[in-house]
Amino acid sequence: MDFLRIKNITKKYKINGDDYVILNNINYTFPSHGLVFIYGKSGSGKSTLLNLLLGIDEPSRGEICFRNHCLNNFTLEEKYSYYKNNISLLFQHYNLLENLSAFENVKLGCLFDEENIDENANKLFNKFNLNYLKSKEVKYLSGGEKQRIAFLRAIIKNPDILLADEPTGAIPRHTAIDLLDYLKEYSKEKLVIIVSHNHELLKEYADIILEINNGNIIEVLNNIDCKNPIKTINNQYIKTNSFKSLKSILFTRIKEDWIKNLLIILSTFFSYTFLILSVGFINGINITTNEDTKKTLLYNFAEISQETYQSVEASNLLLTKQVRPNKEILNSFLPTGVEIKENLSYFINPFSRVICQEEIVEDTLIYPYYLDNPFLIEYQKAHNIKLEGNSLFINDIFLQKLNLNQNEIIGKKINVSNDVDVFSKDYANNKTINDLASFNLEFIVAGVIEEFAFLNSPKIYYSYDYLYDYLSNCFLENHSAYFKRSYSCLDLLFNSDDASQFNMYSYWLNLNNISPEELNTIIDENDFKDGNLALTSEYLSIKESYSSLMNVFAKAFFIFTILSFVLVNIIIALTVLSSFLLKKKENAILLILGISYRDIFLLYFVQNLILIFLSLLVSFIFFKPIEILLNTIIFHFTKLNKMINVPFFSYFNLPLFLPVIMILVNLIVVFLSLILIFLIAKRISLKEELVDE
Ligand code: ADP
Ligand code: MG
Repeated sequence: MDFLRIKNITKKYKINGDDYVILNNINYTFPSHGLVFIYGKSGSGKSTLLNLLLGIDEPSRGEICFRNHCLNNFTLEEKYSYYKNNISLLFQHYNLLENLSAFENVKLGCLFDEENIDENANKLFNKFNLNYLKSKEVKYLSGGEKQRIAFLRAIIKNPDILLADEPTGAIPRHTAIDLLDYLKEYSKEKLVIIVSHNHELLKEYADIILEINNGNIIEVLNNIDCKNPIKTINNQYIKTNSFKSLKSILFTRIKEDWIKNLLIILSTFFSYTFLILSVGFINGINITTNEDTKKTLLYNFAEISQETYQSVEASNLLLTKQVRPNKEILNSFLPTGVEIKENLSYFINPFSRVICQEEIVEDTLIYPYYLDNPFLIEYQKAHNIKLEGNSLFINDIFLQKLNLNQNEIIGKKINVSNDVDVFSKDYANNKTINDLASFNLEFIVAGVIEEFAFLNSPKIYYSYDYLYDYLSNCFLENHSAYFKRSYSCLDLLFNSDDASQFNMYSYWLNLNNISPEELNTIIDENDFKDGNLALTSEYLSIKESYSSLMNVFAKAFFIFTILSFVLVNIIIALTVLSSFLLKKKENAILLILGISYRDIFLLYFVQNLILIFLSLLVSFIFFKPIEILLNTIIFHFTKLNKMINVPFFSYFNLPLFLPVIMILVNLIVVFLSLILIFLIAKRISLKEELVDE
């Protein structure tokens, strides 16, 4: 069996349509051991021959056979096996991984023999007295030192064939002699092929000397002792996964590209944080819409009226008229616990003057509170307040208008006064009785309600019962005289019909045990023969406009999030590409050392995986402080509390899906860009990457 045979090899290059024959139908059979020296002029085709023997270049014609197996017919697996077991190339310019230590570099030569790798490397360093270089990073070594480390890396797997391309070209003479001594020693059992254009020094060492000239190969000398048998041939394919041993490269790559990696981490971090926060925002909107909007004394306050229709003569039009609903009908369907109250706003209304510290507070809305308001009861407990009849509550917007702080306002007097014209018609006698009702109510501020502050205006809340009593004792002079009895403002209300302005065409309600939403649904579902009932709830209308506005925000936010996510994936894909391009040569070296495409692929994948998880980790550490900061800012401008509310403890609900999907998409992007790159990279010739400049 021939050990290594060149059979009718022709190699030509086509340049501008002309064929340049470099090697012209050459034949040679190499022995299984010995030092072969091939010389020839520069450009004669020495490197070309080595590349052919290594299998990173293909002949134009003919074949190269290793132990009767033709290199051209190697499967990918057989090729890895050839690199792992049988052949090594000692590069003229070393091709070491500059950022790894000498020891790590040497280990790269034999990654697949994981069990013995450290031991083997140590043995070599000892044998060649190079222990002092072990932990040094290769970039700090001298040329001669690099040469020796490259030599150790080439022989650590004990290859059957060791190729060396101009190994003495870049080093001083005494270093070259050292190296040749090593190679000579190695060639006693294995085949060493050295090519060089300088043959003076090498002649002394060679067992076989070949000359390449004009595309032909001529045997100048053959001193080989052919009786020396080959001891062992590495021909088992070692299937060990070499990925684990690539760890050192992995971490070096992450470290050495740290600026770029930091940028990836940062941009991914921003996109993750943005996503987490927008999930928090959408969640926060839901919470404020459902919970914070309830934080008002108006929650259990509503107004109910009835709309009746009147047809207009000789027309299809209907006139809508609002009237106070019949109390019996109301009682028949209102849930128990809902109290019907009189609408007192004819007397105290937005036209009333609200005076505090001798100044009129403009645009103040005035509402009643009921004593059993749950929000108020809670407030009383929390602030330890005892209510008097004239206790008044103000909201925070009202407080802002006063330029006082919360402690200063408590106990202060606020006057509410109004003059309203009232009249009654005595139809029997066709008489109208006019009166002027003047009020001046004095209230004491008992507390400041921090209300849900969306579209909010200054508000004050007085006790319904207090005003009720007040009005029942507020007598009208002309009415009393006319009807010859004490006639109060309330009497006016009671004696008016349901379509009178005094009752404001409606009743007030105290919703004790039912939410405004529920009551609204009940009213909507029922038909009333006298016209539809209509519930007016300040709380409901605020909630509605708030949630529709917030939905617009949420949608805009969502679009931005998607955009930033797409962007970050593009960034990831580009960085994957750039890290590949930067490491093209390094990958070629790894491939020629017998490391598979699969492992190199994994190396990139894990590298990016680590980056993505790092940014996720950073996002998880930082989103809370960012959330708090943003909430503080939002609160400062809008008085909305906890607008961003990341559902931290319910991560197994839907919101978690988004981050999980995001990570998956990121990984798929990395995976796909790598696959794409590797499909293209397979067509890139190793020869071009490894060529010595
Ligand atoms: P050397 O003996 O100096 O190592 P090489 O084997 O590197 O020579 O190159 C032999 C000849 O082939 C040179 O003339 C070189 O210019 C040419 N050559 C090498 N690679 C290519 C290529 N990819 N395309 C065209 N010509 C090439
Ligand atoms: Mg060359």
